[in-house]
Amino acid sequence: MTTLVLATRNEGKLREMRQLIAEVPELADVEVVSVGSFPELEDVVETGVTFLENSSLKAHAVAKATGLPAIADDSGLAVDVLGGCPGVFSARWSGTHGADQANIDLLLAQTGDVPADRLTAHFVCCVVLALPDGTERSRVGQLHGVISRTQRGDNGFGYDPIFELPDGRSLAEVSPEEKNSISHRGKALRALRADITELLGR
Ligand code: IMP
Repeated sequence: MTTLVLATRNEGKLREMRQLIAEVPELADVEVVSVGSFPELEDVVETGVTFLENSSLKAHAVAKATGLPAIADDSGLAVDVLGGCPGVFSARWSGTHGADQANIDLLLAQTGDVPADRLTAHFVCCVVLALPDGTERSRVGQLHGVISRTQRGDNGFGYDPIFELPDGRSLAEVSPEEKNSISHRGKALRALRADITELLGR
């Protein structure tokens, strides 16, 4: 049995990763745990200015501290007319970490006079697999859509209610399973499975 540590305290992300690993026959003996299983570990401060810097920082810190292979992710929303912002600052765009509604309100205020057809945006997720010896692999996933001025849907989190998919639904209107199948995070993690298989020597 090989243990893989996910550098997150988010139960949803842990569930998603376990499911994606379970789909790979070569990884049948890999157990995925979160940093929550290591209470002595301190949270890594995200000091990077790119998704890769932040996910790399977290993955290496956890791999080194636990002596186990570790996976970390960093994600955010890139709005084209804002030059890719909020980007790595997505979680704290309005100043308070994780204030989802305040972040949405500020983003809509900033883009208030932009024509609707120019409000293209995409979610980005960078995932990094790091080994205790410093070996690293990274993958990126994206999900494209447009910013909508009306909030719709009760699922998901963050900017989901104002992120409109090409079929007209908001990302908060799709089920968690469907979101995993199309999301930036799902795409990045599925791509990383080949690296996990290779680096874990399967
Ligand atoms: P983290 O990488 O999980 O810390 O996410 C950073 C921030 O980006 C979140 O707090 C959200 O504001 C935003 N974000 C990332 N992924 C999503 C998503 O799938 N839906 C909505 N917002 C997201």
